[in-house]
Amino acid sequence: MPLYELTAHALHEKLKAREITAQELTEAVYERIAEVEPHVKGYLTLTKDIALEQASRADEGFQNGDEMPPLAGIPIAIKDVICTKNVRTTCGSKILENFVPPYNATVMTKLHAQGVVMVGKTNMDEFAMGSSTENSAYQITHNPWDLDTIPGGSSGGSAAVVSADTAVCSLGSDTGGSIRQPAALCGVVGMKPTYGRVSRYGLVAFASSLDQIGPFTKDVTDCALLLNAICGSDARDATSVDAPVPDFTQCLINDVEGLKIGVPKEYFTPALDADIADNVHAAIAVLEGLGATVEEVSLPHTEYAIATYYIIAPAEASANLARYDGVRYGYRNENPEDLISMYKKTRSEGFGEEVKRRIMLGTFALSAGYQDAYYKKAQKVRTLIKSDFDAAFEKVDVIATPTSPTPAFKIGERTADPLQMYLSDVMTTPASHAGLPGISIPCGLVKSGLPVGLQLLGAPFAEENVLRVAYTFEQNTEHHQQKPQIQTNGVG
Ligand code: GLN
Repeated sequence: MPLYELTAHALHEKLKAREITAQELTEAVYERIAEVEPHVKGYLTLTKDIALEQASRADEGFQNGDEMPPLAGIPIAIKDVICTKNVRTTCGSKILENFVPPYNATVMTKLHAQGVVMVGKTNMDEFAMGSSTENSAYQITHNPWDLDTIPGGSSGGSAAVVSADTAVCSLGSDTGGSIRQPAALCGVVGMKPTYGRVSRYGLVAFASSLDQIGPFTKDVTDCALLLNAICGSDARDATSVDAPVPDFTQCLINDVEGLKIGVPKEYFTPALDADIADNVHAAIAVLEGLGATVEEVSLPHTEYAIATYYIIAPAEASANLARYDGVRYGYRNENPEDLISMYKKTRSEGFGEEVKRRIMLGTFALSAGYQDAYYKKAQKVRTLIKSDFDAAFEKVDVIATPTSPTPAFKIGERTADPLQMYLSDVMTTPASHAGLPGISIPCGLVKSGLPVGLQLLGAPFAEENVLRVAYTFEQNTEHHQQKPQIQTNGVG
């Protein structure tokens, strides 16, 4: 098997045994990039010089026989919404085209302490607003399983590069599903930790009451390793929670005996693709066969999750994006008539359509006279959604659902209809409102050959239950080993 196909934990063994060097591994990943990246287009920036230097530093440690962290020398890609010191960070937006952060996000500082190799920055929907990565100001990322389809979003680049083996793992961000949904559509593992688990210092803010950073990996073990590296409280993010962080590899137990899995009936509606429903039911049956107790649960306010999300997230975004005024960051219009015209022209030209739509929606929802009717009402519904989960987790340990109502759709299919695009988030936004940890793992393919994701949700700070169920499923099935055949001579 070529090196770029291996998991981080398998590569660590080889690095430790000095069967391979991190430099060889890094070169292998860039060769893979040369081969398939022109078709997939998952990266906005490649950082080969930095990567090779980091690899040689990791090699020194391995050669000296030092005790090296599990991610030392491992090639990783970073969503372009996470600040990387001296490396351009665009958020997929023209307004940040030339923004080079003078500091690292806390997650980057933590990854560098492990000695990772940074391959590059990945494409995304502008400011993480979208479900297909088509809202990037720069390029469209193609799903490695079918280059005519989207990779999901907003972390589509981070999902596609792991799926295409142009990175061993990656980081993304999830506000309403942006890690879980692209992971499902690209056939990889993606996890949103509990709100507050990971510091967002240096994560460019979209909707601050929802945003969370998390990993994309080729298997659940790598997911646990990445969580170990990035979780923990941080004085620089007041919302990061000072809860003990377990060693997540300790919950990689191949046993679900005695665990209770809830299946919410509200997620299995006629809007759910029948082929996806079949795959997810089959996956739940596998878990039952392995000793888990499966029972139906009800989350009655599920149907309001999208409407609520599309008030709260734009409201917070409208406030967060006020800082892009042409004065402090990035793009500025060259010939304004006066200060107000400079603001107007800069923002009109620098932001894309979807971002402007959200700023308008959010500003409206927060404006005097409408705030009670929209924003406050949405907050109340959010509390009801959270109460549904609280009640369900009194009875069960983990909740299992589909991650996405459909498999990857065609590029361009939903761009003309924002509401159609928003419906992609129907299965992921409820857990976002409640701040829950959630993972998406591959659980099969639909008849057209595209991947299906199984979403597993846990109570706040109960990542361990989620990982244990995900790990057991993976150990007893082969779905995670399926790889896309990228048509390098076809479209793209
Ligand atoms: N698709 C959702 C949106 O457009 C979620 C995005 C995200 O999680 N960043 O807001």
